[in-house]
Amino acid sequence: MSKACRIMIVEDEPKLSSLLHDYLTAAGYETERHAEGNKVVEAVQAAPPDLMLLDLMLPGKDGLSICREVRAFSNVPIIMLTARVEEIDRLLGLDLGADDYICKPFSPREVVARVKAILRRIGPQDRGSAPILLDPDRFAATHAGKSLGLTPVEFRLLTTLAAKPGRVFSRNQLMDILYVDHRIVSDRTVDSHVKNLRRKIIEAGGSEEWLQSIYGVGYKIEW
Ligand code: CA
Repeated sequence: MSKACRIMIVEDEPKLSSLLHDYLTAAGYETERHAEGNKVVEAVQAAPPDLMLLDLMLPGKDGLSICREVRAFSNVPIIMLTARVEEIDRLLGLDLGADDYICKPFSPREVVARVKAILRRIGPQDRGSAPILLDPDRFAATHAGKSLGLTPVEFRLLTTLAAKPGRVFSRNQLMDILYVDHRIVSDRTVDSHVKNLRRKIIEAGGSEEWLQSIYGVGYKIEW
């Protein structure tokens, strides 16, 4: 890793916060610490971290609101820290768009392991930048915590375009990628999948400008 990843620790218990800081620093990460919730969203906007550890109960603004507000503009990985295991079920039900949940008391080693796992999974290039989260294991795409409800073909289409933001893909390239079973399909099929995908992005609160048609050439994603 050329530059240390920066982990934002949002935790109001000073001992816990410094324990996390010590372990993450020892593992080669930089940290930025916040003990109260009000300034966190602004801080993420000003300088997006590579990952956030976010406590649920905080003075000022709580972790739930922070998670929602951050998800409205950022895909930064978020690990929620909760004091009660029953909280995790409730949070999962809210579909906040957090990447992982850890219950207190936790071992700092466990937290470091989860941080590493998430950063490894996400890879270096698209960390924190794309506004739509893609989970290939579940064929799930979410924007700001909202599921796009994609079909497998639409999901593959989005994954392909989003892997290279700004690059234009021709209809033929997209057909080859989308129809691995080489079914006979027409250009129009790709067009109609793109149309549906764009509609679903907009319905989930995304921009109509993200998925663009390049006349006579094909399609691209630009965030
Ligand atoms: Ca707390």
